[in-house]
Amino acid sequence: MAGSADSLTPMFRQYLAIKEEHKDAILLYRMGDFYECFFDDAETAARALELTLTARNKKGDNPIPMCGVPHHAAKGYIRKLIGQGFKVAVCDQVEDPRKAKGLVKREITEVITPGLITDPEALSSQQGNYLMALLPRGENIGLGYIDISTGEFRTTDLQSIEQVVAEVDRLEPSEVLLPDSALEHELLQALFADRSVLVNHLPDPMFDNRSAQDDLARTLRVKDLSAFGIEDVKGPGIGACGAILEYMRSNCVDQVGHVMRLLPYDLGTSLVLDPQTRRNLELFHAGLERRRKGSLLHLLDRTVTSMGARLLRSWIGTPLVDVAQIDERLDAVELLLHEQQLRAAIRERLEFVQDIERLNGKLSAGTASPRDLVALAISLEQIPALNALLDRSDTAQLPVFAPLDPVGLARDRIRATLSDEPPAKLQDGGTIRPGFDDELDEVVMLARKGKGIIATMEAQERERTGINSLKIRFNKVFGYFIEVTRANLAMVPEEYIRKQTLANAERFYTPELKEFEVKVLGAEERRVVLETELFNQLRDKTAEHAHELAAVAERLAQIDVLCSLAEVAERNRYCRPTLDDGEVTHLEGNRHPVIEQMALQERFVPNDVHADTHDCQVIILTGPNMAGKSTIMRQVALAVLMAQMGSFVAADKAHVGICDRIFTRVGASDDIARGQSTFMVEMTEAAAIMLHATRKSLVLLDEIGRGTSTFDGLSIAWAVAEFLHDNVGCRTLFATHYHELVELSQTCPRVKNFNIAVTEWGDDVVFLRTLKEGGVSRSYGIAVARLAGLPDPVLQRAKEVLANLESNAIDEVGGPKLARKQGRSASASSQLDLFGDREGMLTQELRSLDVTALTPLEALNEIDRLRKLAGVE
Ligand code: ADP
Ligand code: MG
Repeated sequence: MAGSADSLTPMFRQYLAIKEEHKDAILLYRMGDFYECFFDDAETAARALELTLTARNKKGDNPIPMCGVPHHAAKGYIRKLIGQGFKVAVCDQVEDPRKAKGLVKREITEVITPGLITDPEALSSQQGNYLMALLPRGENIGLGYIDISTGEFRTTDLQSIEQVVAEVDRLEPSEVLLPDSALEHELLQALFADRSVLVNHLPDPMFDNRSAQDDLARTLRVKDLSAFGIEDVKGPGIGACGAILEYMRSNCVDQVGHVMRLLPYDLGTSLVLDPQTRRNLELFHAGLERRRKGSLLHLLDRTVTSMGARLLRSWIGTPLVDVAQIDERLDAVELLLHEQQLRAAIRERLEFVQDIERLNGKLSAGTASPRDLVALAISLEQIPALNALLDRSDTAQLPVFAPLDPVGLARDRIRATLSDEPPAKLQDGGTIRPGFDDELDEVVMLARKGKGIIATMEAQERERTGINSLKIRFNKVFGYFIEVTRANLAMVPEEYIRKQTLANAERFYTPELKEFEVKVLGAEERRVVLETELFNQLRDKTAEHAHELAAVAERLAQIDVLCSLAEVAERNRYCRPTLDDGEVTHLEGNRHPVIEQMALQERFVPNDVHADTHDCQVIILTGPNMAGKSTIMRQVALAVLMAQMGSFVAADKAHVGICDRIFTRVGASDDIARGQSTFMVEMTEAAAIMLHATRKSLVLLDEIGRGTSTFDGLSIAWAVAEFLHDNVGCRTLFATHYHELVELSQTCPRVKNFNIAVTEWGDDVVFLRTLKEGGVSRSYGIAVARLAGLPDPVLQRAKEVLANLESNAIDEVGGPKLARKQGRSASASSQLDLFGDREGMLTQELRSLDVTALTPLEALNEIDRLRKLAGVE
């Protein structure tokens, strides 16, 4: 960094002292109209923001790297830095530079980190922005997380690193806090190594449980944590939450009035989905590009508020396991599905509801603007109408439709205080409603009168001087002045005092004008002061309603999500599932909810699927590539997931015995999306299933064992299926192209064979897409390859090799005799014929062509095919 502190100017000494306190942040240091960065920060920021790097003290021995951004544009630059995972500390001048004696006093006024953003504009409205803390203790790992923009604050104690991985994957925190001691926790370190999340290591005492308890109780305004249903205050989760509070405070975030409570949760109360499963089922992202479109979330999201969108995401990520809770949601969805008019009317109202959760956050942070408050009032004004809509006999039984609190006091106060369309900035004036405050009204009147006086004064002066083009004007630098063009200067009276000379004109003032200026400008200034004061009072008063606002926001979000689910159910003709704690999954007319909506060449074929733990436990699903095995497995999982989150499902009839977890594993070569399609990964994941699956789990294995040689893969697949049958007993769907696996049913009574029907049409295979009992005896690989356009000679040869294999032709060392050819000897030259010599192949193709039998269209297609064979693109 810098040379010795002594050789520096006082300003740099001040800079370094402040920087010392915020080593891990990029320090924006206010100088005049700019925020400047120095030293390493300058280099980092210049790179991140594409700014020009300059230097201070350029000519001296120690030039100091420097770059800067104009203060009025700082917000955007800060957003950019945060987006790239940096922390930013903003250092402002805290006294008036004109009045300061010596060095201007500067202080850190704001620290912004990826997990501590309160500015909704910098955040996705569709997703929470989480700051997470983890505290490993013995076998357990305490977890706390907060979304400071909405006030969501939750905690739990986890039992394994797998659970941590799943939670991190579910929440996608933007920032994580770990105790210093966790530096030695290899698994935790590895977890964050390849994620784009800012990880902070903090001193262990910040995670102390005892001080955390007091701190949490004090901050959240309760006597003790039992108020939130937290029984085990000694669990590491509480320590983690304490660290969150301390970290927020050390970063100048202490206004947390909108954080209502600390909600404990337990993974046992939701359907557990590990990261691979979430990815395989494409819950939030689809395809290699991980786009939102094509995901389940995208399909189900017909919410009209951001709060609803975020809640839906959370429902999909954590489906329930409690039948009564699920039924409560389903009852509401069913009612809204049938009562279309009611639903439409509710949604119409919700359209006007803004992001109350985040407005509430801004209120507590003291950053809400006049327009934010008006938005809040408009949102609250929808509630009486919503309550009227929901006041019916059929909604009375459902708690979710109970009357909402309109927070009328806050709403009325905002309306009485603020004008209907306040300006963007308080400085612009006009925020407060006329008639609200006598003193303000008077000042406003004075300012307004002033404008009229100017007009009269201008007319008077024109008449007096005879200068018709004389103007009285105003600008921010010079205040009021009389402007006379050069041509008329001779006519200017003596008492005019010169103020400024321009190219074509002179500017003057008179004592009378000056006096007027003082009055009017004083009035304008006073107006802003008064308006700011009144507005701040209003904001603080409104912030006192944080609890009610948070509660009503939550309720509105629920109603929005339920309407959304009803909307989708109606549109796509879903059915209401029945749920119980049994171990039967029974689906009739089941479809893949996302794929059925895609524009396919063929109609999507629904299927019936039944699995249970006593008879039809392990379903071995065989069928050629492209038959639809992966699709049917995923659609079963999605039906279970949707049912347990309280949604209708894509089926004619659905019964779901509650599952505790869904596991899906996809064979290595199918899982290229992860960029690490190794056999090792596949096996590690399979091992995790053997370890964690229970009788109540749903396990989907798709082409497991494919990442290795045939015999290895088959053997592993066999052993895994057997283990799930004998030792775990969970509902299992096992898709495989190893048709040999069908023999498993001979030794395992609860293994059932199914296949996805195909028929042959000549040499072609036709996919029927229907699930049938029984196995298949062959893979149809060659027929599928033919569909894909493999050249005929290659297909012919493949058939020969297959025939050799199937007839057990054996070579001299006992392996299958692949090289033997039917009809002629397998000479090296004839091999070349097929794979090397394209010309020979083309000649052969041309010779075999019966031109007279072709229609003109077929002939064209044939030419096209031959050109492709010839390698023409
Ligand atoms: P497999 O896993 O057997 O190789 P996939 O499940 O990947 O086959 O399915 C291949 C394609 O077949 C899918 O992308 C889809 O377009 C189509 N498909 C699958 N199931 C159906 C169905 N029931 N109805 C219509 N098309 C289907
Ligand atoms: Mg597949």
